[in-house]
Amino acid sequence: MLKSNPFTVAQKQINDCADVLMLKHAERAMLLRPMRELHVSIPLRMDDGSIRVFQGFRIHYNDARGPCKGGIRFHPDETIDTVRALAAWMTWKCSLLDLPLGGGKGGVVCNPKELSQAELERLSRGYVRAIGDFIGPDKDVPAPDVYTTPQIMAWMMDEYSKMVGKNQFGLITGKPLHLGGSAGRGDATARGGMFTLREAAKKLGLALKNATVAIQGFGNAGSFAARLIESMFGSTIVACSDSKGGVCNHAGISVERICERKNETSSVIGVQGCSDISNEEIIEMDADILVLAALENVVTDKNADKIKAKIVMELANGPTTPEADAILYKRGVHVIPDFLCNAGGVTVSYFEMVQNSYMYYWDINEVHQQLDRRMTHAYHKVLETSKNYRINMRQAAYVLAVQGVVEAMKLRGWV
Ligand code: NAD
Repeated sequence: MLKSNPFTVAQKQINDCADVLMLKHAERAMLLRPMRELHVSIPLRMDDGSIRVFQGFRIHYNDARGPCKGGIRFHPDETIDTVRALAAWMTWKCSLLDLPLGGGKGGVVCNPKELSQAELERLSRGYVRAIGDFIGPDKDVPAPDVYTTPQIMAWMMDEYSKMVGKNQFGLITGKPLHLGGSAGRGDATARGGMFTLREAAKKLGLALKNATVAIQGFGNAGSFAARLIESMFGSTIVACSDSKGGVCNHAGISVERICERKNETSSVIGVQGCSDISNEEIIEMDADILVLAALENVVTDKNADKIKAKIVMELANGPTTPEADAILYKRGVHVIPDFLCNAGGVTVSYFEMVQNSYMYYWDINEVHQQLDRRMTHAYHKVLETSKNYRINMRQAAYVLAVQGVVEAMKLRGWV
C-alpha cells in the first residue's frame, strides 16, 4: 500500500523530517498537502474528426520561496497522486539548491505514442489554454518530463504567447535553443551528478581515474553519465544495462561502442567483447561506483547488503527504499540521494529562466561553471548536515530543504 502510492511515500518522508525538525502543527500541515490544484478536461479534435476528452492536472505544491517550477508528463498511467508526489519532490529539490522557486508539476493522462504529431500539437495547445490562468513566468513555470519534449515546450510557449498577446519565452523551460532554450540543458542532470560524484570521491579518498563504474539505465540520464564519467574523470565503465538487460567486461567497455550498439539496436545488449549481465546482477556488481539511472525501488532490503560499490549515485528518482537506505548507511556505503544528485536539470532550467528574463544568453562554459558552483555547494551542505545530525545523506537533504521552505513560510507570516 505504502509503495504503490507515491504521494503516501512523499507524505511519510515529510512526516519523518518534520519529526527530526520538531515542526509545529501548522508548519507540518502546510507541507503535507499541495497549496493549489487545478483539474481540467481538454477536448481534442482527432484527425478522423471525432472528439476525445483528456484529463489534465497542474499542481502548485508550495510557492513560499518563489514561482512554482516543475515538469509536465504526458503518460497513460498518470494519476493525481503521482503529480502531487512529484510536485512535493520539486519543492524540496528547488529549496535544497537554493533556487528562488517553489515546487509544481503537471500532467495529462494520454498515450502520446498513439497520437499523430498534429493531435499531439493540438493537445499541447489545448492543455495550455486550459491551465493558462494558473501558469506564467512569475507564477508557475513548467518544463519537459516523461514523454514531453522541447518541441512540445515550443508549442506551449507559442500558445501562451498568443493568449497574452506578446512573446513569453519565460513561460516554460527546456525549450529548443532557437526559442530561448539554454546551452547545456541536454546533459545537465548527468553533469550536475558528476560534480557531486567528484566531491564524494574526494571525501572518500577514491581516485576516480582508477575507479570502475556500473550503470543501470542507459537513457538520457544514464548515457550522458557514462560519457561524462569517462571524459571528465577517465574512470572505467565495467557494466551497463537498459530495460532489455545488460553487458559487462571487467577490463572496461568503451562508451562509444555502447552508444553505437544502442543506436543500432535500441539496446546495449551484444556489445562486442562483453558478457551478459542481468539488471539485478548489475546492482551487486564488483565496481567502485554504482549509478542508478532507471527506475524507482531497485535497491531494497533484499540486495542492499550485497552492494559492493563505495558510492551509489542516484540519478533516478526514488531508486532506494527506506529500508535499504538504513542498511547502506550502516554499511558505510556513500549514497548521493536523488534530489541532490539529479538536481542539475532543474538548476539549468532556472538558468534558462534567468537568461530569458535578461534577454542575454550565456555560453556553455558559463552554464557549466554556475552549475558546478551550485551542485558542489549543495553537496557539502548535505554532507555537513548529515555529520552534524548523525543522519544519512537523504535525511540530511530533507532537513535542509524543508527548513528552507518553512523559513520562507514563517517570514511571509503564513505559519
Ligand atoms: P529515459 O527514458 O531516457 O531512460 C530510462 C532508461 O532506463 C532506459 O535506458 C531504459 O531502457 C532503462 N530501463 C527501463 N526499465 C529498466 C529496468 N527494469 N532495468 C534497467 N533499466 C531500465 O529516462 P531518463 O530521463 O534517463 O530518466 C531516468 C531516471 O532519471 C528517472 O527516474 C527520471 O525520473 C530520472 N531523472 C531524469 C532527469 C532528466 O533530466 N532526464 C532529471 C531528473 C531525474
